[in-house]
Amino acid sequence: ETIINQIAAGEVIERPASVIKELVENAIDAAATRIEIVTAGGGKTLMRVSDNGCGIPVDELTLAVSRHCTSKLTDDVHDIRALGFRGEALPSIGSVAKLTLKSRPEGADSGFEVSVSGGHMEGPRPTALNRGTIVEVRDLFFATPARLKFMKTERAEALAITEVVKRIAIAFPHIRFSLAGTDRTPLELPATGTGAEATLERIAQILGKDFADNALVLDAEREGVRLSGFAGIPSFNRGNALHQFAYVNGRPVRDKQILGALRGAYADVIARDRHPVAVLFLTLDPALVDVNVHPAKADVRFRDPGLVRGLIVGAIKQALSHSGI
Ligand code: ADP
Ligand code: MG
Repeated sequence: ETIINQIAAGEVIERPASVIKELVENAIDAAATRIEIVTAGGGKTLMRVSDNGCGIPVDELTLAVSRHCTSKLTDDVHDIRALGFRGEALPSIGSVAKLTLKSRPEGADSGFEVSVSGGHMEGPRPTALNRGTIVEVRDLFFATPARLKFMKTERAEALAITEVVKRIAIAFPHIRFSLAGTDRTPLELPATGTGAEATLERIAQILGKDFADNALVLDAEREGVRLSGFAGIPSFNRGNALHQFAYVNGRPVRDKQILGALRGAYADVIARDRHPVAVLFLTLDPALVDVNVHPAKADVRFRDPGLVRGLIVGAIKQALSHSGI
């Protein structure tokens, strides 16, 4: 069982940032409105994610760290409202690191915790806690020394964690996020609300007011596929592609086709070694896209990739020409 979990961990957990992604997504699935993240050593020594979500009842704590136990599956595979649904993340993390899961659901008189280290579980035992869940991960990959060697510098891992948090935070402006330990100054993202205005305000927190105030507004639709979002004016470009954010049906994705279309749209107005800044939200019938190509869920498979590319390139080129660029 531990070995199977370690193999699964190889798929889902590549580096500290993948742990942060899984834990933050769990907090979002639990309807949290505040998510606090603390890290040390680029996440290699410590990652702690606290939320004020629905919590886990004591009789489900053991299940939560067991393989393929998820509280989120519906009958329809396309109808995946929750971000996570494989029941793999917590057991995977517990098989390669020291994991402590503390939780207290609404109405419970106390919190409980379980801990898993290298696949060995202890608990549940009572613990003092407010409503919500705290997941603490220490010494990532201590149980798999070969994997440990592949981690990058603290600085690089910390940067990847920051990127993951920003990427998710843009899609959930009604949630307050904080991230400490990855940089000298912690990242503080107060909740901005719901709707387009709130999204733009969250984008301003992350990409700067300068981007948000001057960005081209995208809003286009083709054959049921809708694109909305914001694209930087050509002079607002960057030396790397870290400032490109794409979402499919509200989930962050890092998809080559979408990013390729973005690059294509700016090919004539931005130098080849520079990268446009943009936030793209695609909305379409879930039956027309597979977001589960890989457990890490970064790539997507569109039924009609050409349509999506045409939509993105067309909308951005049109916005550029309307603004006289
Ligand atoms: P999945 O998210 O795919 O269901 P995980 O291994 O990430 O699998 O989590 C296992 C289960 O633990 C979830 O289905 C959920 O019931 C519970 N859980 C995990 N994290 C939280 C959290 N922060 N708040 C409430 N429940 C949680
Ligand atoms: Mg999950």
